[in-house]
Amino acid sequence: MSNTEGSEKVIAGISDENWQAVKVLVVDDDDRVQEQFKMYFTDLGIDNYQFECSAAAAMSNMVQQQHSYDLVVTDLNMPNVDGITFMRFLSKIEYSGALMIISGEDRRLLNSVVQLGNAHNLNIIGAMQKPFDRTELRQMFGKMQLSADKLAFVSADQSLTEDEIQQGLSRGNPELYFQPKVAVKTMSVPSFEALARWRAEDGKILGPHLFIPVAEQSALINDLTDQVFIKSVEQVAQWHGQGFMFAVAVNFSMNSLERISLPDTLLAICSDYKVSPENITIEITETCIMNQEAVALDVITRLHLKGFRLSIDDFGTGYSSIEKLNRLPFSEIKIDRAFVDGAANSYSSRAILESSIAMGKKMGISIVSEGVETEQDFELLKELGADYVQGALFSNPIPADSVLQWVENWNKSSH
Ligand code: C2E
Ligand code: MG
Ligand code: MG
Repeated sequence: MSNTEGSEKVIAGISDENWQAVKVLVVDDDDRVQEQFKMYFTDLGIDNYQFECSAAAAMSNMVQQQHSYDLVVTDLNMPNVDGITFMRFLSKIEYSGALMIISGEDRRLLNSVVQLGNAHNLNIIGAMQKPFDRTELRQMFGKMQLSADKLAFVSADQSLTEDEIQQGLSRGNPELYFQPKVAVKTMSVPSFEALARWRAEDGKILGPHLFIPVAEQSALINDLTDQVFIKSVEQVAQWHGQGFMFAVAVNFSMNSLERISLPDTLLAICSDYKVSPENITIEITETCIMNQEAVALDVITRLHLKGFRLSIDDFGTGYSSIEKLNRLPFSEIKIDRAFVDGAANSYSSRAILESSIAMGKKMGISIVSEGVETEQDFELLKELGADYVQGALFSNPIPADSVLQWVENWNKSSH
């Protein structure tokens, strides 16, 4: 046994609570492998895991239950449907969690499977040869880094470097994807959230977890945020010109709010495009607001004075007090998906939703629930009186040029 045995819980800064929140699916027909994983998960404190003995069963599990896993571990050589076919399926359903391959095949084949996974745009963290021991398993898990607030797995070596970000910015990055925000009462779509994506040189589209944290380490985050803001306002202007009066929400990192001139700069951009700031919501994560600096507070207040709408993102992750929120000019709370996903079957999530919605109503603040994936959770949110919903049940984020087509389909279908 290695002398580092038992230190799994601190790998890559992943804390105990974060491991506990991780949902894992293991697809393998070998009982011994299942036993090995069970023991390992117990050590890590992961209790939200499922096993499937075949890829076919895993596929129907994922479709029927609309289950989103943070990590899928799969064998390659399985009866009927093999691991490669399963990977194609994961790509088709736009599975965005991490993927790990375990197989008895030789190393060369495993390497090409990893390449295939990358070509499918899957977040593949590696392939491990069977039989493996605890040390190898630990190394594989050590390659994952869990962003503390998002539960999104990151393969550290896939993150962009500062140089790559710098160069990409001058090549038209970041690109924007948009996710609709649906009004619960009318089922209409008044606005979209702009979510940054990165087009790598090979054409692959990368998620924000691969470049935002890196950009935040330097002044690059300012350039990046400015680009997202300008493109969002430009898009609003274009939609308005086409007769679609959508508003857009833009995410701001705390560091990019520490520029005293920001409210004037943003207002000037809006007037260049003849877009009223009322059509733009600035989303700031709750944990950032709790650690606010005086400058950021000054900027937040003046953004409100200039007419921008302000939203508290990932609400529930930062333990805000009602008093503190009441002192800041926010008009919207977005409840983090950790409390929305599976709320219909979780007493504690339901309690958090119930009290957040009641609090929002009392304060005249609208409540958006993020990450709605199932009809059951949506029914619960309706019953509790949420104002807006966002999530895969309605639409994943889509490229800008697909938005109007999506809207047409949405308006045609009955809800
Ligand atoms: P966020 O602002 O909380 O955005 C919501 C995230 O949840 C998005 O991930 C969205 O794709 C994802 N999501 C939406 N519906 C569902 C669902 O039903 N199920 C699941 N599992 N996920 C869902 P995305 O696009 O990867 O963005 C992650 C985070 O990156 C964002 O979280 C935001 O904090 C940050 N981000 C994105 N774009 C920007 C940006 O332009 N600037 C800054 N500073 N941060 C950004
Ligand atoms: Mg957001
Ligand atoms: Mg959020």
